[in-house]
Amino acid sequence: MSIYRDAKYADVAPAEKLRLFNEVKADFRWHHVLYGCYECGICTASCPSARFYDFSPRVFAQIMAREDIDSFYELLNDVMWSCSQCFSCTRCPRHNSPGGIITIMREVAVNNGLDSAKEALKAYSRIIYKVMSTGTQVAPDMLQPDFFPDWGPDVKRVSENLDVWRRAIPPDTLHTTELAWDVSDKTRLQLYMIFKLTGNLEMIENIDEGIYMILEEVMESLMDEKDLDIDDFENILEGEEEAEH
Ligand code: SF4
Ligand code: SF4
Repeated sequence: MSIYRDAKYADVAPAEKLRLFNEVKADFRWHHVLYGCYECGICTASCPSARFYDFSPRVFAQIMAREDIDSFYELLNDVMWSCSQCFSCTRCPRHNSPGGIITIMREVAVNNGLDSAKEALKAYSRIIYKVMSTGTQVAPDMLQPDFFPDWGPDVKRVSENLDVWRRAIPPDTLHTTELAWDVSDKTRLQLYMIFKLTGNLEMIENIDEGIYMILEEVMESLMDEKDLDIDDFENILEGEEEAEH
């Protein structure tokens, strides 16, 4: 029974909740993130998200230690996305890591393509695409007033003179505006193969099929351009200089 007065997800089968709970517990990091809980609240006192949201790392430690499947399912689908993954909660006197518990839970939510994961990651689709296709994160041309309204007038000033700002930076590899830094085609292909072989591409397909399809298309045309075969991982991972841009 859930600890929440207005319990949600009563329509979800207990077996499904248990399956996801067991998936969290089966993670190889599980025994390093939860040892038991004094309920002292030190983690919550140090948690920045607890100051702004109806959120408490202590609740995660307690619910997971009690194996409260219904409440776990609620945390998995709602509250856990309020964690900012700062790990201030690791100052726990029992050496628990509520942030670590949440990391595992988030991975389970993403791997299972839960709606809450899709919703939470929607705002990051551009960043996911950049990371997975280039290995770099926020590109300078993403610094637009609409994208970062909380930056005030500074972001407008920077976005208007982006080329000039970037050319003023000494390393040539940073003279780009569409990428954080210049990345060789060989590196992009190697990253793609790593994401593919480790199951990360499949995970993205579960969460955002649109990004997955774009990534596949972009990387396949890059491979065509380099005359590389998708099954020939060795060539791609150990590509000679000609695979460089
Ligand atoms: S990792 Fe999450 S739960 Fe831990 S202190 Fe930071 S925001 Fe709070
Ligand atoms: S997780 Fe640690 S810090 Fe948080 S309430 Fe439990 S014992 Fe205290």
